[in-house]
Amino acid sequence: MQMCGQCNKVYDESEYAKCPFCSKEEYTHVIVFDKNDGTAKSVPQEDAQLYE
Ligand SMILES: [Zn+2]
Repeated sequence: MQMCGQCNKVYDESEYAKCPFCSKEEYTHVIVFDKNDGTAKSVPQEDAQLYE
């Protein structure tokens, strides 16, 4: 078992290349294009519909 240095949670390093708890946050974010800013940005998945 491996303890994550970022969130201090324990995970199985044979199953995960990196901490699944920290990387989970990435998976819940999606890249959207903000027409107002004219830039691409990462937002929580539940907010993605606001940019469509
Ligand atoms: Zn972590």
